[in-house]
Amino acid sequence: MARDLRRQAMRAVDYPPFYFADVPIIDGEGGPSSADMPFTLVHEIACELDSQGRFRQHCVDPAEHPALAQQAQAVAREFGHTAADLLVVGIHGDGAPCGHSESIEQLSFNFPCLPNGDDHVARYLIWCVYKSFVAKPATYAAASAVIAWSVLHLILGVWPSCRHDGSPWSPRDKWRNAMSGKAMRRPGFLGQIRGDWAFFKELLSVPAWNSATNMCWLCNCVRSTMAHTGADASWRLNRTAAQASFFTRLRAQGIPINPIMGLPFVTGMTICIDFLHTFDQGVSAEFLGNLFWWALPLLGVNRKNQVAELWRQMLYFYEANQVSSRLSGLALADIRRDSKGPRLRGKASQIKALVRFGSELAARCRAACDPAEVAVAETVQECAAQLAAIYGFLLAPAWPAEEARDASVKFATLYAALRTHAEAVSGPAVKFWKVKPKLHLGQELLEYMAVANGSPRQFWAYRDEDWAQQTSTSMSSTAKSEQHIQPSM
Ligand SMILES: [Zn+2]
Repeated sequence: MARDLRRQAMRAVDYPPFYFADVPIIDGEGGPSSADMPFTLVHEIACELDSQGRFRQHCVDPAEHPALAQQAQAVAREFGHTAADLLVVGIHGDGAPCGHSESIEQLSFNFPCLPNGDDHVARYLIWCVYKSFVAKPATYAAASAVIAWSVLHLILGVWPSCRHDGSPWSPRDKWRNAMSGKAMRRPGFLGQIRGDWAFFKELLSVPAWNSATNMCWLCNCVRSTMAHTGADASWRLNRTAAQASFFTRLRAQGIPINPIMGLPFVTGMTICIDFLHTFDQGVSAEFLGNLFWWALPLLGVNRKNQVAELWRQMLYFYEANQVSSRLSGLALADIRRDSKGPRLRGKASQIKALVRFGSELAARCRAACDPAEVAVAETVQECAAQLAAIYGFLLAPAWPAEEARDASVKFATLYAALRTHAEAVSGPAVKFWKVKPKLHLGQELLEYMAVANGSPRQFWAYRDEDWAQQTSTSMSSTAKSEQHIQPSM
């Protein structure tokens, strides 16, 4: 495993050696154990790349990363650095399947504000572990302590003088001992933490989507208010206090604060809401599933004909628009399974490719619907149009923050109205147009985070997900028994 990790993390020569730290895990028998695990240290890679002359340009473009540019100014003032020299580090975490029944939990980092190019797209594996070896929460806490220590020294701009736990350098750290206390030419700070909701919950203890109280780490939203989508929603108030109380609540519950969240200038807004997980794999899949299910009766005399007609229209759309990421077929179960609410099945890229089709389909259905259904059809059509507009904004050269915010409020409000109508017709247990927590997370993303941080493209996880999967696949041939129990460096 360690050899594979080295191949992944150290593609070029002359990178620093691994840092080893003791991490609690579950052993092969299912009992508590610990392992001497290898880490790639963020500050060491940053300094190495800098010494290779890889960071010649200013690191943060205020037009593309307005909030991070402000953060760079604040960090520079606080620590006596030059803002233009500061590196912005983004951490990404994810689990990727490895073999039939296992996955590898990975933490990686990159420099998201560098101009597009090799260094912009490069990812560096910090640490990884087989999921079945994870002892919650001790494994993640121990790994986080190493990462936070490394990033803290990047912020300070000084090489550490001892190990992450305060102990003296070990014989394996001879090289680090020689660097103790030296100043770094180019400090940096943690500007992004990327991943999905499950990862944020595991690593950072953010509330679960199904938490009974306070499901959001950015506001006071609870399940009973997540369908409140308008400008007067109560969760829009007291947001700063709500974010501060998130940590207070963790302490009150005896949940330790992850050391990464304790780093200077890291706030709830550093935890980036990802468009892929929130929309493609969440809101949009739910919306298209409900839209298709609602549209079926207008497309034929029985379910078989209806699905066949929908597929025919989809194929026409694919051909007309030269769509590359296509569903391979369409069955009724791809729209709705069993007694669950509708949800379109497909990969994120396949869902994304059908959002505009959904808008066109809704317009056709509006024109063909029964007069008694016009009000609902108009709501569906406008809702679909707003979602298509949001996806269109992602292609704009400059992120239209105000327009995107307006489209988000309209989309969420129309969607919630469809739910209200469905309940009025069929009762509160009805499965259609269900409002789920990701609808709220989508509003947070477009109405707050993207307003402050710029286009969701700047912090979405498409590239991270691909990279994590490739890394996992390349390691899948490694015998699990090698994992960390017998580090082989
Ligand atoms: Zn919120």
